[in-house]
Amino acid sequence: MTIQTQMGVLPMSSPADYYDMSRVRPEVAAALAQINAMGPVFAARAKAVDDEASFPTANYRDLAEAGFLGLSIPQEFGGWGFSMGEYAMVGAEIAKYCGATALTFNMHNSSMAWSRFMYDMPNLTPDEKAAFAPLRARQFTRAMRERAIYSQPISEGGQNWTSKPNQTQCRAVEGGWKINGFKKFASLAGYCDYYTIVCTEVFEGQEPRHEDTMLFVVHKDTPGLTVKGDWDPLGMRGTNSRDLILKDVFVTADDLLMPRGIFGKTLPNWPHMMATLSPTYMGVAQGAYDFTIAYLKGQVPGQPPIDRRMYATKRVAVSKMYARLATMRALWWQAFSEAKGMPSKAEVMRMYAAQYNVMEGAQELTALAIRTCGGQSMLKSLPLERMYRDSRCGALMLPYTSEIMEDYIGVLALYEMSELDTAPGDEGGARNSLWRGDAGSLRGLR
Ligand SMILES: Cc1cc2nc3c(=O)[nH]c(=O)nc-3n(C[C@H](O)[C@H](O)[C@H](O)COP(=O)(O)OP(=O)(O)OC[C@H]3O[C@@H](n4cnc5c(N)ncnc54)[C@H](O)[C@@H]3O)c2cc1C
Repeated sequence: MTIQTQMGVLPMSSPADYYDMSRVRPEVAAALAQINAMGPVFAARAKAVDDEASFPTANYRDLAEAGFLGLSIPQEFGGWGFSMGEYAMVGAEIAKYCGATALTFNMHNSSMAWSRFMYDMPNLTPDEKAAFAPLRARQFTRAMRERAIYSQPISEGGQNWTSKPNQTQCRAVEGGWKINGFKKFASLAGYCDYYTIVCTEVFEGQEPRHEDTMLFVVHKDTPGLTVKGDWDPLGMRGTNSRDLILKDVFVTADDLLMPRGIFGKTLPNWPHMMATLSPTYMGVAQGAYDFTIAYLKGQVPGQPPIDRRMYATKRVAVSKMYARLATMRALWWQAFSEAKGMPSKAEVMRMYAAQYNVMEGAQELTALAIRTCGGQSMLKSLPLERMYRDSRCGALMLPYTSEIMEDYIGVLALYEMSELDTAPGDEGGARNSLWRGDAGSLRGLR
């Protein structure tokens, strides 16, 4: 596998180098191959997107053309019906070439995945499913027929949104609701067609509650919705994660992503759904490793063909990188193969550990890649320094930041399920997104 650049080709790993392909469905293998065929073009575009902190619009055009917007959409709606684990594999392949494309693609895919997998949860009543059915059909149809792209702005920055109900609020008005609030880090801001807005419904005389979390799909041109602020970050610059202001944005019941109450009833019991940022960082880590191998062999296009493989120090560094990468990949693939509603405690702990390992490992690997390749590899003309900056962003992404994973794994390892709600250290902590087993409750919203 190779990356075509203006100056030549960069050899890259292929899925068979890290997956047992006999366990991969042919349709999925084909999708992975397709991404690797498109990837060199994504990689060639990545520098300008990063330099300008613009958006990989052309990559989205290509992904839409090839059908990837419907990857998680059920087949009866024209999509591919991939499982969560299969999505994760695709996301990681995209990220080998362009981290920002993979991270934003996750936001679109997550909106589709919520509609897909929450509907299938066994704890929904027939009435709830009947109310859910037309809402999801609406979103699936938009993504398939209009090639609509969705974003998922949930974060509110400084509002400690893992512990309190979302500060963005909706209030019932005649014919619907009005939404008011602010979203920080709204990836795809100004580039998506629809924003999936998470907010809290408020009622006169009552404190806002997690139980009243609502999800609305808001078209980009809806009056009252504006994108604000600069976007000049360290890494993942192509995500265009600017601020979103919502002022009296009017929505109706048709704009719900899912009916009232379903979010709180389902998401806490589908905890892998919040681990879907990790495919991006798994792929960035792989990209950095692939670059290192090519660099040490003198096979990076535009670089002098210097063979550096004879240095024992480089060989040891590559061994360390491979050992780390292979461990990350194995645990991560295992964890995503177990993604489902109502997982077991062991499955959730493996998922938390996978998330932690990937987010921490990606930055360690890119740092080691730079140290190993040396000074010239830091030049902006090469992709490694971008991967190094991009890899730094994963561990701080809520709700499963590395800090929070350290807390959750420790709590689940040391306490019985019946003790979770009384385990100390929960005061003002991030325990709302901690999985709570079958008792997964409204308290367990993101
Ligand atoms: C490139 C990029 C793209 C993004 N795209 C999106 C997007 O599309 N949609 C979206 O919703 N968000 C997005 N985010 C936001 C991301 O998920 C986080 O919400 C955000 O990075 C956290 O910002 P903060 O430092 O203001 O958070 P803070 O709330 O200040 O948290 C800082 C750190 O403190 C710790 N912490 C926070 N709360 C608690 C707590 N209650 N208990 C214990 N520890 C805690 C965490 O470890 C966290 O890393 C994006 C972020 C980045 C960097």
